[in-house]
Amino acid sequence: MTEISELYDKKVICPICNTEFETKKVRSAKLRLIRRDEDFLAYYAGESPLKYNVFVCPNCGYSASESKFDSITSEEKEIILKEITSKWNKRSYGDKRTWDEAIKAYKLALYIGEVLNYKKVELGSLCLSIGWLYRIEEKQQNETRFLRLARDLFEEGFYKESLVGTNMDELKLGYLIGEISRRLGDKEQALKWFNTVLSNPSLKVNPMLENMIREQWRLIREG
Ligand SMILES: [Zn+2]
Repeated sequence: MTEISELYDKKVICPICNTEFETKKVRSAKLRLIRRDEDFLAYYAGESPLKYNVFVCPNCGYSASESKFDSITSEEKEIILKEITSKWNKRSYGDKRTWDEAIKAYKLALYIGEVLNYKKVELGSLCLSIGWLYRIEEKQQNETRFLRLARDLFEEGFYKESLVGTNMDELKLGYLIGEISRRLGDKEQALKWFNTVLSNPSLKVNPMLENMIREQWRLIREG
């Protein structure tokens, strides 16, 4: 019996041009988590689902993360046709992806997110994912560049935007801003954000996060 592949083909219909295409996904039964970094990057023994989270339409170039892919208004559709499709060289990201191809897919999604005026937190999440991909590739300068972008976007989002409809809440976002700042070597800023989250009374319902913050806070104090 041949072993079932880690990847399978998911059929997707593009909400912009109605083309049906296939994109790879990792079978959840095949995921083998090794460890997680403190900013939530998960490492797997085999294929990483992070590489396949962005869908790219090979026909029109529309790209977005799976959770965002279908939510598009008719006005946004016009913007994509004008700003993206008219300049798109048809190519597919539907096969097994290298890390570099995954980064390219995320950069397309990031560009489209900027064109469509996504929330800062959503743009920040795409930047964080790109930073993670560079971390896995051990390209530290690029990682740092995208972590900084992510941190600044998260910070702007924290102050200016509602988090409703995003995959973030105030505690997780505050913690992430602190942890990314710590990784960037911005100790003061990291401590400020960790303290902000630690003083939030609703942290009591999330003891795991509280422990993580206290641990990272200690790392800075002792470092
Ligand atoms: Zn399309």
